[in-house]
Amino acid sequence: KAKSRGRNAVAVFSSEIESEPSSLLAMDSALRRAIKRNEFFLVYQPIFHIATGNVVGVEALIRWQQPDGSVLSPVEFIPLAEETGLIFKIGEWVLRTACAKIGMFSRAARGPLRMAVNISPYQFRDPQLLSCVKDTMESTGIEPAQLELEITEGVLLDDSSEAEETIHRLRALGVQIAMDDFGTGYSSLGYLKRFPIDRLKIDRSFVTGMESTRNDQTLTEAVIKMGHSLNAQVTAEGVETALQWQYLHEQGCDDAQGFHLARPMRAEQLLEFLLDRAARAGEQEATGILAHL
Ligand code: C2E
Ligand code: MG
Ligand code: MG
Ligand code: MG
Repeated sequence: KAKSRGRNAVAVFSSEIESEPSSLLAMDSALRRAIKRNEFFLVYQPIFHIATGNVVGVEALIRWQQPDGSVLSPVEFIPLAEETGLIFKIGEWVLRTACAKIGMFSRAARGPLRMAVNISPYQFRDPQLLSCVKDTMESTGIEPAQLELEITEGVLLDDSSEAEETIHRLRALGVQIAMDDFGTGYSSLGYLKRFPIDRLKIDRSFVTGMESTRNDQTLTEAVIKMGHSLNAQVTAEGVETALQWQYLHEQGCDDAQGFHLARPMRAEQLLEFLLDRAARAGEQEATGILAHL
């Protein structure tokens, strides 16, 4: 049945998949095909240093371009990739592709940028993760400190001694570890004390609530203070308004990303974006020098 629908079948699977477990097999082959035919691509969302307004990094986010041209979001297929086990292959591709781009992006920005890559809990538990990260760093030439792996609170829960070991080993490579969607999971202060984390990413839901709820304002402020007291940097996710940026600035949050600042974009667009900003900064500098003559 699936085959007879031809190339557009994938779009149908993606909507049927949840209600029909048998189509997991179909999804598996669709995902395999997607890997083979290069249907995945990455978009990159700039991350800004709040105090200076400079771009200090980007987060790589995966997309799936269907044969019919439509684009699927990761929330629609990453869970299925996890179920079918293809997440390992896809995750490896994401890591390699993202790391291969950072040199070019950094040159465009005229300074080293950070590359943030999302790691699925399945990948995080994979014994091969460490060698995969090592190989990727060697083959792409990315500086370890430029690579930041984003994990979620859930990974600390299952077997925390193993998780602890993995985090230590990754950090021993010089790679940075960020806790994504912070505040939405189950991690306690105890976990945070135990796991050395380089960065907390405040989940968008708290940032969104900042303008209307005093509660959320208090919460973001508490997370920022807590992050700093643990020697971690703090990034706010989902900044959609100037007012949110201003609050975060006042609260001493380190970095921010969100649609108010820049949307995720394809590599070519990001290059243009970075080159344009660098050129403007150069002009400003020149104007400043001329003013002093
Ligand atoms: P995330 O890691 O928390 O990524 C941030 C998500 O928020 C992205 O959605 C981004 O497009 C979106 N976003 C950024 N700024 C704003 C904003 O101002 N407003 C709103 N409404 N949204 C904003 P996206 O790209 O759909 O990714 C969703 C999730 O899928 C990610 O959440 C991450 O958990 C997962 N994901 C994305 N790429 C990968 C990947 O390569 N591997 C794995 N394992 N997971 C991925
Ligand atoms: Mg993330
Ligand atoms: Mg997040
Ligand atoms: Mg999220």
